Amino acid sequence: MILVMASRLLLALLAAAVLFATLPAVADEPSPAGSDNPGPASEPTLAAAPTPGPEVVRWEPGTEVRPLLPGEAYETPLYINTGPEPGPAVMVVGGAHGNEPAGWTAAEQLASLVPDRGRLLVIPRANTVAIGHFVRTFPELGDLNRLYPGRPDGLPMERLAWEITRLVGEYRVQVFVDLHESWGFYQDRVCPSTAFLGQTVAVTNKSQAIELLGPIVEGLNARLTGKEQFTLLVFGRPGPLPPPNCPPTPLPSQRQGGYGGTSTNMLARTYDPLITVLVETSTQLPLSRRVSFHLEIVRQILVAQGMLGS
Ligand SMILES: [Zn+2]
Repeated sequence: MILVMASRLLLALLAAAVLFATLPAVADEPSPAGSDNPGPASEPTLAAAPTPGPEVVRWEPGTEVRPLLPGEAYETPLYINTGPEPGPAVMVVGGAHGNEPAGWTAAEQLASLVPDRGRLLVIPRANTVAIGHFVRTFPELGDLNRLYPGRPDGLPMERLAWEITRLVGEYRVQVFVDLHESWGFYQDRVCPSTAFLGQTVAVTNKSQAIELLGPIVEGLNARLTGKEQFTLLVFGRPGPLPPPNCPPTPLPSQRQGGYGGTSTNMLARTYDPLITVLVETSTQLPLSRRVSFHLEIVRQILVAQGMLGS
């Protein structure tokens, strides 16, 4: 069964690769890589963030499914796919926002992928209630992308963020990939706005993150043109000043749906070995195209980590 699912996924990944081959040639507000002008006020550091611990998990090849928030309306599965050979751990989360279908569609396909080496952890539908209603989220659930590192006794998405933070430590996750969508293309953006993050890959401000994603974005862009090309953004790195008529960028504590927490970038700042990657496609592109971008970026991360053959 696993083999059948894995081979189906392989076909999907191959299809994505063929698609690419045939192409003509915030303060979690990240800044473009390489820019060095001072930017807007930076995000305050939260002192009470939990540091994921180096727990030891036995190496048992195969697929395991574990419910997160078990027994609740928000229960959602975590797929733990362990390859035959020990290696690094990568976690992929889709559906943090219910109205961003490319992320969860790609993550659902990845849920059956067992790597050759290492461990792939996938939460395909993080906010499954929001997905069911095709909305970003509900106030009573909270916004997962504004609530890291989470709390054990807060809103449902705060508790999910807390679970994910614990999983990062339990499995010693090295790369965390969060799959999102945005309406506008980043290339069209004038003022800082999360509505214009389409076609970006945002990473932690760590050299290993830029070394991992830089070549991947460069390689993709060599096969893409115009607005489909991706921009590599770096969290916390000073960027260019926005035009003077732009409204000030809100800090996380001022954002709707947040309680002073931030996106997964927070985890990378509390857990030193971790690289976080936020992929944002533009919903102005066809869904199948956006899904292929998410799949291709994750596949290339797994290849670069030595978890899949190229
Ligand atoms: Zn999102």
